[in-house]
Amino acid sequence: MLRPYNFSYSKIQKVQSFVNHVMLDVVFNAKNIGAANFNSALVLPKYRPLIDNINQDYILDPLNEAFVICKTLNRKEIKLLKTAVHNNNKIRELCNGTIQPVKYDQIEAISSDLKKALKLFCDCLYDNCIKLKPFYSTFEDINTYYKSIVLKSKTCRCCGIGPILTKFHTHRGALDHYLPKSIYPFSSLNFKNLIPICEYCNGKYKLSEDTLFITHNKGKKNQSKIRTVAFYPYSGRIHDINIDITFKKAFDSSIEPDDIEINLTCAGNTDKVLSWDRIFGIKENYKAECCTDEMRMHYEEQYIADMNLGKTHIQYIEILKNNKYGDMNFLKIPFLEAINK
Ligand SMILES: [Zn+2]
Repeated sequence: MLRPYNFSYSKIQKVQSFVNHVMLDVVFNAKNIGAANFNSALVLPKYRPLIDNINQDYILDPLNEAFVICKTLNRKEIKLLKTAVHNNNKIRELCNGTIQPVKYDQIEAISSDLKKALKLFCDCLYDNCIKLKPFYSTFEDINTYYKSIVLKSKTCRCCGIGPILTKFHTHRGALDHYLPKSIYPFSSLNFKNLIPICEYCNGKYKLSEDTLFITHNKGKKNQSKIRTVAFYPYSGRIHDINIDITFKKAFDSSIEPDDIEINLTCAGNTDKVLSWDRIFGIKENYKAECCTDEMRMHYEEQYIADMNLGKTHIQYIEILKNNKYGDMNFLKIPFLEAINK
């Protein structure tokens, strides 16, 4: 993340308390509950409308299926499910590598029907329920929440390039599941795991790439996954990522991505920078950007400023540094420095 968001309190974040209660106190506790089936009377009264007033395919049915299966599980299996709820919602600690997540694969190893039911519940929460009146009248409208996070900032904080919709647009931009909801259960509506990012980052590059594991020998017999770390998107502080650009040939309008070398470094955060590039295709994106007509025009602007205003390249770049994250200057600076080398 080039510029992480600040996490601020909002009522909508309480949806996670509903998920935690339903799972930990009721579904995973099924063995200790007399009822043969799940019903809304088993949950706290304040949460009952979220079950009774929603299409039963989304909540009641999958919870009932999970409840019935949980009655047959042993202590070790229930412990894993509880760990999944606890750990998969500690997004900061998961990003920093201090705790381990639980994946759907591990639940599938217990029971594929249980995995299916829990996945249906978690997916429906985000895809359907949050947009329905029983949810938005209890918590908060997700569009309002989105606007309170992005405010007037129109640039993706992940790559620093792509546009995102601001609070002044009628429509809302995408919220990305930083830890993919296809891999990690119980955090589909954890708002520390939901970040507004651009269409490049969300829809084209990241998709369901695993944030926390690197796949080696993908698709081969000896495929393996290695745990890694990642930037926490709500850390609130700018990571001082250094972007170093080198052109392998003299810069002109024929420049192509293969003619460019980009190094991304950040003191003390080497693995997090590697994850950022792996997940979002950052180097590829920046190389492509350096080959655009628009970037070449920035160089020409600099050249004209140098000629007409008597500024040196260094003075021109120093001015850009005053607004490093505005107008893509974080990339223009190493781009111009590379040309001027
Ligand atoms: Zn982006």
